[in-house]
Amino acid sequence: MAQTAFLAPTIYTPRPISNGVLLTEDDRIRAVGTRDEIEIPTNARVVQLEDGFMITPGFIDTHNHGAGGHDVMETSRESLDAVCRTLARLGTTSYYPTTLTAPTLDIRRAVEFLAGYLEEAEKRPAAMSHPLGIHMEGPYISVKRRGVHPAAHIVEPTLAAYRQFAEAARGKLRIMTVAPELKHAPDLIREMIGTGVQPSMGHTDSTFEQAEQAVELGVRQATHMFNAMRPFTHRDPGVIGKVLNDPTIKAELIADGVHVDPQAIQLLYRCKGADGIVLISDGLSAVGAPEGTYRVGGLTIEVKDGVCRHNGTLAGSILTIARAVRNMRDFVGLPLEEAIQMGTLNTAQLMGISERKGCLKPGADADLVILDQQLSVRQVYARGLPVE
Ligand SMILES: [Zn+2]
Repeated sequence: MAQTAFLAPTIYTPRPISNGVLLTEDDRIRAVGTRDEIEIPTNARVVQLEDGFMITPGFIDTHNHGAGGHDVMETSRESLDAVCRTLARLGTTSYYPTTLTAPTLDIRRAVEFLAGYLEEAEKRPAAMSHPLGIHMEGPYISVKRRGVHPAAHIVEPTLAAYRQFAEAARGKLRIMTVAPELKHAPDLIREMIGTGVQPSMGHTDSTFEQAEQAVELGVRQATHMFNAMRPFTHRDPGVIGKVLNDPTIKAELIADGVHVDPQAIQLLYRCKGADGIVLISDGLSAVGAPEGTYRVGGLTIEVKDGVCRHNGTLAGSILTIARAVRNMRDFVGLPLEEAIQMGTLNTAQLMGISERKGCLKPGADADLVILDQQLSVRQVYARGLPVE
């Protein structure tokens, strides 16, 4: 049994502990506390962090389409390995590979491949990001609010078609973005909730009433808040009005400073508080890769000055959760502890995995990120293994 004791000026569990000790044993956390509280076993390897450095839980991303030059729909083990390695290097130690709207057969093939890959990843802990479940973004979305999702492949949901996707996913489908105003969306939402899949309101032109009905059916999540949603106005508050007003819903947020103005993020924070926001990347294959032209699904995406566009429309990002946390502190002025919580614990609670992920406590996976004063990622451990 390999034990390691990390001595850190600050440990965010995400609650901050000064002069902390984090003790890991193989792939799990054994203890966390102050230096006075934790006895360091004599055979433990000791890692002493520099002044100003900190340890946070590994970041979790519920919305990622790829990284390192590869897309999660490529149906190749090498490609997925490259995505998982790149994300881990950037501090995202677990994620939900997210499919885009594409021809039904292509989505089904991708979902089927991902399901097999996820089963395998569970059994072979490696120094890579841990894919926890599939997020399907499309095809059951609004044509009007589709963003760059191709209109030709957006379809009206039916239970029969949905069940074919679910079957291909073999229990690994965890999130599906759905526009609640679609004709059979209520049936779909009921089916998803009954089978442990989380519906997320997104790419939607829902009115307030339609969003409210979805919430009554059990929807608790909104996909990239503000983006690809019916705009809020004072006489037509729409889906945004529902999310802002309802504490039971967690809002995914792309905090890159481009997708949502920092003032709108402030407003979101005032409404939702520290517990109601979940930082996501909406990252594309260009994450952790050079700027230039990328193929994403059937689209050509230009990545320039840190922004991804398809024919001028914003299309995903090259953001990481670690960077989003820094942005929440630097652009929005949030306490660091709360920003970290939005990229770790909130996400784990939303997905029902907080016993294992998103917080540093005994028994949880040893997914750790070491950050310096500038909040740059210095070292990452994924299920106890150092990421190169
Ligand atoms: Zn989207």
